[in-house]
Amino acid sequence: MKRTKIADIFDPALIDTTVTVKGWVRSRRGNKHVQFVALNDGSSIKTLQVVFDMSKFSEEDMRPITTGSSIAVTGTLVASMGKGQTCEVQADTLEVYGTADPEAYPLQKKGHSLEFLREIAHLRPRTNTFSAVLRVRSALAFAIHRFFQERGFFYLNTPLITASDAEGAGAMFQVTTLNLNELPKTEEGKIDYSEDFFGKMTSLTVSGQLEGELGATALGAIYTFGPTFRAENSNTPRHLAEFWMIEPEVAFCDIAENMDLAEDFIKYCITYALETCKDDIEFLAKMYDEELLNRLNEVVNCQFVRLTYTEGVDILLKSGKKFEFPVYWGADLQSEHERYLVEEHFRRPVILTDYPKEIKAFYMKQNDDGKTVRAMDVLFPKIGEIIGGSEREENYDKLMTRIEELGIPMKDMWWYLDTRRFGTVPHSGFGLGFERLVLFVTGMTNIRDVIPFPRTPKNAEF
Ligand code: ATP
Ligand code: MN
Repeated sequence: MKRTKIADIFDPALIDTTVTVKGWVRSRRGNKHVQFVALNDGSSIKTLQVVFDMSKFSEEDMRPITTGSSIAVTGTLVASMGKGQTCEVQADTLEVYGTADPEAYPLQKKGHSLEFLREIAHLRPRTNTFSAVLRVRSALAFAIHRFFQERGFFYLNTPLITASDAEGAGAMFQVTTLNLNELPKTEEGKIDYSEDFFGKMTSLTVSGQLEGELGATALGAIYTFGPTFRAENSNTPRHLAEFWMIEPEVAFCDIAENMDLAEDFIKYCITYALETCKDDIEFLAKMYDEELLNRLNEVVNCQFVRLTYTEGVDILLKSGKKFEFPVYWGADLQSEHERYLVEEHFRRPVILTDYPKEIKAFYMKQNDDGKTVRAMDVLFPKIGEIIGGSEREENYDKLMTRIEELGIPMKDMWWYLDTRRFGTVPHSGFGLGFERLVLFVTGMTNIRDVIPFPRTPKNAEF
């Protein structure tokens, strides 16, 4: 018989029909007359109650049904009198696919801490919390593609292995097939990368932006959505060594339009999740964060504040608040500063613009004041920076001057500069860290808990 997913079974039209359900046992209880099994198949947060009339089944039949075991049941779906459920299955036949020894199965008991579950990342998707998070993550990924596709953006795949080390967004992981025990050396005693796989030094990408600009200046508007690698040795709840980033890049677009795009984009994704993952988000709110739904609705319904870095620094200086890191014009804002602006001062998301050029990347468009660049960071409650973007410097000479000032090695970057040599246009873009969005929408507080297999310093087990 065709299997019905538990997500689809709470359908009044199915009442009094015969159904087959397959899944993993969450619990079994009962007595010698009747037994109740809570079954979950991952299709939703809901479990289905399966009722075993013990005149049809023996103790022997039931023994393998322990928490974590996998079974198939065929029976009649009936309206349920039990509280909290609308229907249940009265079992006629039972097939056990796999047992799960209660002595050994780590999820035998409920209520494990998130820290413990990180140590069993291979099994944690079977918990309510992680299955909910992963379903929300999947829905958000779909919303992201839908948002851009509806607006005529093209999905561009940028390389994960790169020879450019000019982006400066973070420390890079090197990619090599050289024998590390016997590195070939040049006459000057340096590593001879001409013998390496690509004939030069290569790394995993920290951003697809530079290649994204090549796409935008051909297709008009593109977005990337792929893995990104940063060897930052910062053990924070907001940084991963491997994370997913979405980077739209748009030709004929200035910083104001870029801000509109970022705001519409985030609101669209959150709205989509609220509409399609209601049960999961409500579950997560109940378990971890009572304010979650309020916060999500507020962000969707408010207008983000827009102000310059200089104005932001003024507010921080006048706040009278004691921060761990000092605030002064020219300082790179820390998460505590960002969150003060968002959570305490404005009480809604903030887009900060026009940062000092010294703390931003070389490609950002220079303002006429000679001090600031057209950067825009979107700052969110609980998260701090969720998006970093800018209008790009489209003027070849200004870009080159900045590159020389900073001493950026551009020998491998001639291709990037060609965008400014041939048919250059004003253009803008930004990067959204996917896991930071998933953090915000799920109300989780550690980024390790919103990606199936987190990569962080000293951790690549699963
Ligand atoms: P931060 O200051 O928080 O380290 P950043 O300024 O280095 O971030 P960008 O280079 O602007 O980050 O990258 C764009 C976006 O990618 C950020 O706004 C953030 O959402 C996300 N991001 C950056 N680094 C990480 C990381 N290590 N793990 C997860 N997400 C990240
Ligand atoms: Mn940034």
